[in-house]
Amino acid sequence: MRELRVDLGERSYPIRIGEGLLGQAGQELLEAGLSVKSPLLVVSDDSVAPLYLEPLLEQLRSAGFRAASCVVPAGESSKSLARFEEIMTRALEEGLDRKSAIVALGGGVVGDLAGYAAASYMRGIRFVQMPTTILAHDSSVGGKVAVNHPMAKNIIGAFHQPALVLYDLDTLKTLPRREVSAGLAEVVKHGLIRDAAFVDWCVRHADRLLSLDPEALGYALFKGCEVKAAVVSADETEQDLRAILNLGHTIGHALEAVAGYGELLHGEAISIGMIGSALLGVQLGAPQEVYLRTREALGKAGLPVSLPEHFDTDRIMEAMMHDKKFGEGKMVFVVPTAIGEVEIRSDIREQWVRDIVERLKR
Ligand code: NAD
Ligand code: MG
Repeated sequence: MRELRVDLGERSYPIRIGEGLLGQAGQELLEAGLSVKSPLLVVSDDSVAPLYLEPLLEQLRSAGFRAASCVVPAGESSKSLARFEEIMTRALEEGLDRKSAIVALGGGVVGDLAGYAAASYMRGIRFVQMPTTILAHDSSVGGKVAVNHPMAKNIIGAFHQPALVLYDLDTLKTLPRREVSAGLAEVVKHGLIRDAAFVDWCVRHADRLLSLDPEALGYALFKGCEVKAAVVSADETEQDLRAILNLGHTIGHALEAVAGYGELLHGEAISIGMIGSALLGVQLGAPQEVYLRTREALGKAGLPVSLPEHFDTDRIMEAMMHDKKFGEGKMVFVVPTAIGEVEIRSDIREQWVRDIVERLKR
């Protein structure tokens, strides 16, 4: 088992990564300071629940907890105020009190939704993350929790740090292959922004990661969480530094916005976005190796590294203009200067980006 602490003063918390953790969840919650006197509510989705919910509830009950559950449909559309209200209703029905906790069992969707419910119920109760996707190494660290509004993603939310992140590697074994690669995109991103040696490691061990080898996966998730935690600890509420976590996301979000439904997973879109950022970096003076290594790391993780021809450059540029990451008419971009190093540039010209989008199609 690996453990790391997210250092946020009074709000610090541990991330525990290993096999079989679901089977000792009750003990882990007790150690995190939760009391069996207050009921728990486990939130999950209808793909994850049939696999892991009953064993978790049983385990929590055997440790003395009163534990109820709320299962929402799988998918981004569950990050809604309607599902939020449903969780509130369940929490009231089950008599959750100020010392209770909401436990998120699932990927980033469940984590964000359950986390926002925990941030709001009685003005904030405790929250435990049990991530079941690779991508959720990203969403479960940092305390950003939110639901979507029909007009904007993640716009109704809070900063609410979990009391504990419990990452059971066994639960990842049922992840669809495409979700594995999509999650690895954020893992590689964490290397690209802060840790060149880890990028090398990812290239060398890509096969083990894709086959969900627990030792390799545990290490990769640990390293990914470590980078994210370091950045978040230095800038909890995204005043400045935290923006480096958006590497590849400016182009990536635009691609997601113009892609057909289900065409690109988030990780796939940001993979292409990170290739674009690497091209931009090289254009601005970074060594060619930045592009080659970025491409190698993402390609080996089973991710797309070029843009399908049919994507319309004008529409992509339009979508980018609407994105919140463009401040004061200038394009703000996270640009790599070397592998493991990025800078935030606010002088990026629209034409440069347009050219790069075109180059991504080749
Ligand atoms: P997700 O939660 O929708 O999970 C992806 C799919 O995999 C779902 O269909 C889910 O039911 C299924 N699944 C999950 N675990 C499984 C398992 N172990 N076995 C089989 N199937 C499983 O998506 P995600 O990619 O984990 O997260 C995406 C969400 O995370 C987005 O809403 C995004 O906005 C959010 N996010 C938040 C932050 C943050 O800082 N809060 C950061 C990154 C992403
Ligand atoms: Mg992301």
